[in-house]
Amino acid sequence: MDQHTQVLIVGGGIIGVSVAYYAARAGLQVTLLERHRLAAGSSFGNTGLLTLCDSHPLAVPGSAWKGLKWLLQGRGPLYIHPRLDARFWLWLWRFARSGGDWETFRRGWAHNLALSRLSLELYEELVEQEGLPVRLYRAGVYHLAYTPEAWEETRRLVHEAQALGLQAHMLPPAEVFARLPHVRAPVVGGVFCPEDAHVDPAALVHALADRARHHGARIHEGVEVLHLSRNDARVTQVWTTHGVFHADWVVLAAGVWTRVLAQSIGISLDLEPAKGYSLTLRRPENAPPVALLLDEPKLAVTVFEDRLRLAGLLELSGMDPRLRWERVRHLMDAANQYLHVDTSAVLGVWRGWRPCTAHGRPYIGRAREVRNVVIATGHCTLGMTQGPATGRLVVDLILGHPSGLDMQLYAF
Ligand SMILES: Cc1cc2nc3c(=O)[nH]c(=O)nc-3n(C[C@H](O)[C@H](O)[C@H](O)COP(=O)(O)OP(=O)(O)OC[C@H]3O[C@@H](n4cnc5c(N)ncnc54)[C@H](O)[C@@H]3O)c2cc1C
Repeated sequence: MDQHTQVLIVGGGIIGVSVAYYAARAGLQVTLLERHRLAAGSSFGNTGLLTLCDSHPLAVPGSAWKGLKWLLQGRGPLYIHPRLDARFWLWLWRFARSGGDWETFRRGWAHNLALSRLSLELYEELVEQEGLPVRLYRAGVYHLAYTPEAWEETRRLVHEAQALGLQAHMLPPAEVFARLPHVRAPVVGGVFCPEDAHVDPAALVHALADRARHHGARIHEGVEVLHLSRNDARVTQVWTTHGVFHADWVVLAAGVWTRVLAQSIGISLDLEPAKGYSLTLRRPENAPPVALLLDEPKLAVTVFEDRLRLAGLLELSGMDPRLRWERVRHLMDAANQYLHVDTSAVLGVWRGWRPCTAHGRPYIGRAREVRNVVIATGHCTLGMTQGPATGRLVVDLILGHPSGLDMQLYAF
């Protein structure tokens, strides 16, 4: 195994492999270390939506009250496990404030959009020019509201989206049923976002890793980074289960696990794991041919060649690995209640942790304290969407190229 490399990347999820791909393509000598296997973290069982319409911060104005209602009901899409941890409560307070008013929310959406737009362009380029063997499902995404309150919020979001230059078309219920016979009544209204797409997330990570290898990147699975040794303002040694590595640049792209790695070299990241669940089913005969987001139960539905995925829920319970079965049932019940699809052939149940910042933007940048370390994490619900753009920005930083985006937005 190489012991010296120009760029050493920790983490083999969408962010790590995106960095590996762009760095190798730029001619840099690249090594990526993944402790398990590629896409072992949250890049595995997610819905794979590549979305502009949903690139807004998670906390929508007014959502604090709605969140409280869901918590009190006990079966909603949000769950917070109370714990004695001042850092967590501070994060939660900042998170709730990020969607405090529409002005702040709009700014947050515009900031995320810059990154998501760049990423969607890069996805097109990857598939069309690089020949990335991955299917981009470009049929758009439908948002469906099932209650007047959800429709009210959706309509407001559509106005905001249109003001940001996005294509978001409101549809009356009759039009929804005409386009989507798989949907059960009573839909109050729908929105079609034609620019959005989706992809099989794990297949994408593997395909991108293959292209990175093709450009010379070395990708080692089953190698865990255990310790980073720092000498003044540089990381000098990376201690792993398979030896000690030296690198000109170290990129920490380990998803929710980045916080602890960064902390060990004096970098503090305001990052919180937000657990989500998914169910993967054998693709039913009557599967909807497009991606759906059911706005009131907060259920995302995507279809791949032979599978259908139901995902959602946001659980703030730290890194608690336990699966709350009533949450999984919530996904299944919502699918049965709102869609005409056969949900009996379950292929897998999954849970993963989204790496979430309080302000809703990812952290991408060089560490002030440690000059040869780059952080690339905190994409929360948008990691698949923003992966390629993040990879390219990290490589621009390393090469000292201007990125064309305001990198201060992603500082930490
Ligand atoms: C239910 C759910 C649905 C989602 N849906 C979408 C969606 O539709 N669209 C979207 O854009 N995003 C979605 N997301 C968010 C998306 O999954 C994440 O933002 C994204 O996967 C984060 O990627 P990552 O590379 O940062 O982290 P990860 O994929 O978690 O990768 C980090 C990797 O680092 C490795 N690692 C950790 N520590 C070490 C170490 N010490 N040494 C070596 N390796 C290490 C881990 O094993 C892991 O493989 C969803 C998330 C969930 C939970």
